[in-house]
Amino acid sequence: MTTLLIQNAYIVTMDDRQREIPAGGLFIRDGFIEQVSATRALPSTADAVLDLTDHLVLPGLVNTHHHFYQTLTRAIPAAQDANLFTWLTTLYPLWARLLPEDIFISAQTALAELALSGCTTTADHLYLFPNGARLDDEIAAAHEVGLRLHAARGSMSLGASQGGLPPDAVVDSAEAILRDSQRVIEHYHNPRPGAMVQIVLAPCSPFSVTPDLMKQSAQLARQYGVHLHTHLAETEDEVQFCLRKVGQRPVGYMQDVEWVGEDVWFAHAVWVQDEEINVLAKHHCGVAHCPTSNMRLASGIAPVQAYRAAGVNVSLGVDGSASNDGSHLLAEVRNALLVARVKEGLTGYSLSNDPTRTLMTAREALALGTRGGAAVLGRQDIGSLARGKCADFCAINLNRLGFTGMHDPVAAVVFGQPVNVDYTVVAGKCIVKEGHLVTVDARQVAEKHHKAAKRLLHAS
Ligand SMILES: [Zn+2]
Repeated sequence: MTTLLIQNAYIVTMDDRQREIPAGGLFIRDGFIEQVSATRALPSTADAVLDLTDHLVLPGLVNTHHHFYQTLTRAIPAAQDANLFTWLTTLYPLWARLLPEDIFISAQTALAELALSGCTTTADHLYLFPNGARLDDEIAAAHEVGLRLHAARGSMSLGASQGGLPPDAVVDSAEAILRDSQRVIEHYHNPRPGAMVQIVLAPCSPFSVTPDLMKQSAQLARQYGVHLHTHLAETEDEVQFCLRKVGQRPVGYMQDVEWVGEDVWFAHAVWVQDEEINVLAKHHCGVAHCPTSNMRLASGIAPVQAYRAAGVNVSLGVDGSASNDGSHLLAEVRNALLVARVKEGLTGYSLSNDPTRTLMTAREALALGTRGGAAVLGRQDIGSLARGKCADFCAINLNRLGFTGMHDPVAAVVFGQPVNVDYTVVAGKCIVKEGHLVTVDARQVAEKHHKAAKRLLHAS
């Protein structure tokens, strides 16, 4: 039995009552929260005590879409100024050279960046397994860094010779994909509260996977009670591809292959019509909104406010580090707020006198990155600070130049320049302390990663 006491912080609970507690604290026992209240109402001692005077404490941020391996191919000149399909066809041949140790070091890099940005739980979507690479390689990296991982076993089965986008060299047979999917579920998936690893099945996208594999993956996932994830309606190109190939728009195609339900979440979902938003709401599907990636690749702006109004669970994703070029989840919260306002502007907000038409607030944006993430991943034990939840949180010291003159401590961290956090705590254990990673050596990780990235680019 170990206990941890957090004192004197501004606590943002994101609980059902949206409580905020100035001079508040947490009492934690064995990795779970036992009490959230004013500091004076908490026990006065514990095995470890952390005074967080002048700090804002948020529930740990939850990242619901990423491709860790892409940290190795950031800002490649030929892919800097391209739309999704051109960007992908430029990068597929490089990704075909990935080795198992590249998967490990890129995962450590992305996880370290995420931890420094306040993230405590992350999904990752790995859909290429060249040269003996396995999902196990990134699970090992998450174990070392100490974040909770929803490892999505991705796949591609529709190569260029069959009308798909990826070259045949990076696709696998359905049989091999399903066999390995079953292996990782049986070996790693933990459905219990406090789980550090869960497995997700995640065929990559409509333009890289056959309809049969979509259906078979859904059957296998439901047999084991694991979630399903894929890219959907990311670009207008993809909508045209689906219409040509399967005679349906992306959401209709998902209905055809039985990919709707509360166990399914989609990355992006930018190009949807009103009736498709209603389909996602009716079936309780989740959406991982990735605003930076959508801006970077000129994909468009997801209708997040319309999703929220319809009751769709929306979360945030930094997306792969080659379509964002960073893994900063707090920056994603800020971009979600800003791009939602751009969308309002494009639809006549400034001319509207309708008082019911409101802009996304800082607290709503933070809710996407916390509660929203937990809902989309199907986790009851994370996403807010409340009795019985996992002791996952981040803390930001508000005594900084960039926060002076801010009149609202919560809005400060969203409206202000995104900062690295001072503390990231997972299950009561410090991953980041006083602004530094404590579980891995950030400099060593960066050095190894830099070497791997150079080798990958210049290997022939
Ligand atoms: Zn993606």
